Amino acid sequence: MPNYTFRCLHCQAEYNIRCSMDDREQVACPDCHSKQKQQIFSSLRISHCYKESVCAGGGSCPHAAACGRDRG
Ligand SMILES: [Zn+2]
Repeated sequence: MPNYTFRCLHCQAEYNIRCSMDDREQVACPDCHSKQKQQIFSSLRISHCYKESVCAGGGSCPHAAACGRDRG
């Protein structure tokens, strides 16, 4: 299973979770148990791509290529 890194939007803690892709939604912060989180792409440490509507909108996001949401 892949490892995912998240930043908690509630307490700002960063944590790594090994889970299936489908289980990411269910992951909760180990500190405050909030499920409100932003995925961090650990090799890139990009902090702007939580704006998925921007990234998914057709390449207007300046980080699109790096964040994996590059739609061309
Ligand atoms: Zn938290």
